Amino acid sequence: MRKGFGLTVRLAVLTGLLTLVILSTIGLALMSFGEYRQALSRLSDESTRALMTASRLKQQSESMVGSGALLLLADDHFSRRQAMFEISDREEWIRELLSELEASPATQGSFTALETTLVELVENFNALDALVRRRIDTQALRLSRGPHDEDSVVRLYHLEERIAEQMRTNRSLSMELGVAVGYHVNHIRSQLDASVHRLNEEIGQRERLLAGFAGMAMLVLLVTVLYVSRSVVHRVLRLHRAISRERPAPEELDVSGNDEIARMASSIQRYMHNISDNERRILAMNRELDFMASHDALTHLYNRHHFERAINERQQALDSELYSVVMVDIDHFKRINDNHGHDAGDQVIRMVADQLSRGLPDSALLARYGGEEFVALVPGCSAAAVASMLETIRHALMGAVVRVDGVTLWVTASFGVAQKIPGAAFDRCLKAADEALYEAKRRGRNRVVVRPLRQSDSEGGDNG
Ligand code: GH3
Ligand code: MG
Ligand code: MG
Repeated sequence: MRKGFGLTVRLAVLTGLLTLVILSTIGLALMSFGEYRQALSRLSDESTRALMTASRLKQQSESMVGSGALLLLADDHFSRRQAMFEISDREEWIRELLSELEASPATQGSFTALETTLVELVENFNALDALVRRRIDTQALRLSRGPHDEDSVVRLYHLEERIAEQMRTNRSLSMELGVAVGYHVNHIRSQLDASVHRLNEEIGQRERLLAGFAGMAMLVLLVTVLYVSRSVVHRVLRLHRAISRERPAPEELDVSGNDEIARMASSIQRYMHNISDNERRILAMNRELDFMASHDALTHLYNRHHFERAINERQQALDSELYSVVMVDIDHFKRINDNHGHDAGDQVIRMVADQLSRGLPDSALLARYGGEEFVALVPGCSAAAVASMLETIRHALMGAVVRVDGVTLWVTASFGVAQKIPGAAFDRCLKAADEALYEAKRRGRNRVVVRPLRQSDSEGGDNG
């Protein structure tokens, strides 16, 4: 069986089998009809004709016996010859019918007894005819000699006795002939009955055989339907159910087997795997895009855009919270770029970001604000507390080094801090922290400067 074509082959075999059984049934029915037609014509042609011939034979033999009675009653030669003519005519007919019967395939057995009886009967008629002729002549003699002619009376008396004896023989021969003919008639009739009986039995047998074939065809049909339903419809429906789910799982598909549906299921499964791989890739890319949209690629801190959006979202909550804002700027960073290259500058930015992440509390919202500047919102902390944290960071920075091509770089940074006072907006705090950073720069860098907010900062306006 070729790989992956099992269903087609099996369905073709089943359909072929079904066609074969149906064609055999039709063939058998046609053959049976042909045979019955032949048997019927044989019955009607041969047996019926033989039966009719036998009936005619019976009639002729009865007529012959009747003609015998006419011969007995004949009182002149004309009537006698007439009767004898009748008898020989019947004999001829009987012989003709006999040879016809003998030639017929519907009759069996010997006709010798019948022929012998016929010969004997005809001989008897001839003897009777001779006696009747003598009786007519004697009666004529008696008439010419007068009624008292003793000799004629005696001769007539003897003749009548012999005629009577001949008639007895005639009757018994006629009976024999009748019995012999009747035997053949019965024989043909019983053969006809036997043929009809045989035909009926054959028809019954063929009927049972045809019913068997029809049953077989139904069985093959049933097997085909069951096979199609189990191996095709059922599996296609299961496949359809599996792929119609909102989130179809490729491993739920039934790919067992080696036929067309199994191949289709494997293709669908491969396709589903591809889709889920692509989906996973797209999700990863989306996560990456999301990260890139909110984070800085160099330091992996939040970017300025995300920082501002987060502040906007928390604006209301921030109004009633205590927090401090920090601005950080690396000192003389341009020199690092200029002296050691942009890559070295990048490493320094990453190192500072790392120190800030470690030194500030987890709750702090820390972001790269631009170039070598950082911003942080530290919730729940006073400026003094944050300044102390920043001092620690500043010292850590002074202790940390960046090595570029065997050269050790020392880095410092300046920090500006402002604490929010009630009623002051975030922008005011940010501005104050920026001002504090400027002051740190101005005062010689590498320091933390706290800029206390004035009451005027809490009353709105950007010109404070
Ligand atoms: P100051 O102490 O006054 O802050 O001096 P500074 O040199 O640090 O300040 P300035 O603003 O003059 O120089 C900042 C430089 O930072 C300018 C710019 O080329 C560089 N810079 C900005 N972004 C990046 C970056 O992503 N990587 C590198 N390597 N350099 C950057
Ligand atoms: Mg700067
Ligand atoms: Mg700088």
